[in-house]
Amino acid sequence: MSRYRLLPSPAQEAVLRDHCAHARYLWNLAVEQHSYWRVGRTSAPGYLEQCQQLTQARAEHEWLRQGSQTVQQQALRDFARAMSAFFDPANPAGRPSWRKAGRDEGFRIVGRGRQWEVRRLSRKVGQVWVPKAGWVRFRWSRAVPPGVKSYRVTMDRAGRWHVAFAAIPDPVLAPGNGEVVGIDRGVAVSAALSTGELLRVPGLAARERTRRRRLERKLARAKRGSNRRARVKHAIARLGARETDRRKDWAEKTSTGLARRFDLIRVEDLNVKGMTRSARGTVQAPGRNVRPKAGLNRAILASGWGLLVRRLGDKAPGRVEKIRPAFTSQRCSACGHVDAKSRESQARFACTVCGFACNADVNAAQNIAAGHAVTARGGFRDAGPVNREPQLLLQSA
Ligand SMILES: [Zn+2]
Repeated sequence: MSRYRLLPSPAQEAVLRDHCAHARYLWNLAVEQHSYWRVGRTSAPGYLEQCQQLTQARAEHEWLRQGSQTVQQQALRDFARAMSAFFDPANPAGRPSWRKAGRDEGFRIVGRGRQWEVRRLSRKVGQVWVPKAGWVRFRWSRAVPPGVKSYRVTMDRAGRWHVAFAAIPDPVLAPGNGEVVGIDRGVAVSAALSTGELLRVPGLAARERTRRRRLERKLARAKRGSNRRARVKHAIARLGARETDRRKDWAEKTSTGLARRFDLIRVEDLNVKGMTRSARGTVQAPGRNVRPKAGLNRAILASGWGLLVRRLGDKAPGRVEKIRPAFTSQRCSACGHVDAKSRESQARFACTVCGFACNADVNAAQNIAAGHAVTARGGFRDAGPVNREPQLLLQSA
């Protein structure tokens, strides 16, 4: 994703605002329809049915008819995609929710060549074609990557417009060296490779985290609706965006590097959503390890490895294997003995039988690389969300 500052003329800005309003309206309509849906009922209307409803709505409402059908259809398609991401167990995306005016403003255009085009006007200015608005100028801050297929126009809370071009990355050629790598996705260390490398997702620096805490306290004191509050909120949002950018950048670089170096990439088949789902439980069945898990949730979401695996799948199609993670962290990668006591601590593995010792995450990654799954004595425990290693979760609290 490469983002550029968009510079619409006042007339164009009015068109863009309409596009945003239409996209938000249809998205929220779809959210509303799906909110009626309950398990056991017939399914909520899908994309095709919604498109028919869109045709109807356009016939009835002058306001919608005036707008771009491309924008409106795409909003529904985006919603359908967000719904399937929500149901995909490998994807940590949450349920699509309401879009608020002034907060989540944006629309997407696909179909380059038919619906849109991009060109460079001068050294520092580019132009992108937006339906009904025409050529809109943007700041050419770096080259637009070749092969972009769609873009998204957004307006932030400060009223600034941006355009972000999206490209589906071309698959990276396998090196052909027959090498296999295992990746253990942890929390303390974002990813451990079977080669012994430990990768960390860059987050905010200590100074930035301090600043965010200070801003959050300031926000709590600021009066609702005041200018000061808006300014502080904006500053917090900017820090959040910086953190996200770093995480995305890391996932891009790391996935490209791995796809280039190894023929086969094995990762844990961890259900991200299961792990990040609330551990609170119900009154009848209160969840276990509620406190430790609350902290773990944040760390997992911050670690961005759901994104890493998705990008690996894009860049190394057919070369990524998901391995069931049961006992990968209790099994000795040297002799195969499984013993919870071998896991000395969160960080250290020392086999109780053969004495092999190394970083615990690397040991797990080596088991994953070897493709070892369930081999524990006493059979297979139910690998529910929390009980991968309950005792370790407690220690990490
Ligand atoms: Zn051993």
